Amino acid sequence: MKFPEIRKEVLARTVELYKAGLFTVTSGNLSMLDEESGLIVITPSSYPYMLMKEEDLVVITKDGEKIEGDLRPSSEWKLHAAIYKARPEIRGVVHTHSPYATSLAVKREPLPLILAEMQYAFGGSVPVAPFARPGSPEVGSGAVEALGEKKTAALMANHGVVTIGETLSKAVDRAYYVEDAAKVYTYVLSTGGTPTYFE
Ligand SMILES: [Zn+2]
Repeated sequence: MKFPEIRKEVLARTVELYKAGLFTVTSGNLSMLDEESGLIVITPSSYPYMLMKEEDLVVITKDGEKIEGDLRPSSEWKLHAAIYKARPEIRGVVHTHSPYATSLAVKREPLPLILAEMQYAFGGSVPVAPFARPGSPEVGSGAVEALGEKKTAALMANHGVVTIGETLSKAVDRAYYVEDAAKVYTYVLSTGGTPTYFE
C-alpha cells in the first residue's frame, strides 16, 4: 500500500474534523499531496467517517486517474486537483460545509478582515468563489481564482468552504479558524454591533 504515513495523517485529521462537527454525515473531504510523486491521497466518496480505514483512502493523479484504492475518490477531487496544480507550494486541502462560514457562502458575502489572526491565517479577508455545480470542474476553477496567489481560505457560494496549507495540518487549522471567525462575525452582526475592518 502506497504512502502509509500520509494515509495515517489523512485518516486521523478526517476523523478529527468529523468529531469536531466540521464534517457531518459524509459531507466534506480532505486530501494531502505526496511531494515526490505528485500523487494525491484523498478521502473516498460518500463513505461513513467512523468506518473509514487507511486502506479506504484513494490515491489519484492530479488528472483524476486512480492509482490505488477500491472506492471512488471524493466527488470533489477536481477541486483538490485544481488547487494542487495552481499552487505548487500547497500540500493539504480541506473542504467542509461548516455552518457559520457556509451561511456567509449562502449570502455570497466574503468574510471581511475583522480579526488580527485572519491576516496571518488566511492572508486577509476570505473571498467567495462563484457558484458551481458540486463535483464540476468549475468548482475547482472558481476556487482557484478566488484564492489567487496568496489566500489560504475561500468560501464557495451556496456550498461550503475550502482551506489550503503548505502542510495538511495548516489546512486543517484554517478550517477551524474560518468557522470561528465566521461565528464571531455573525455574533457581532446579530447583537446589533457594527463590525470594524482593517483592510
Ligand atoms: Zn461540498
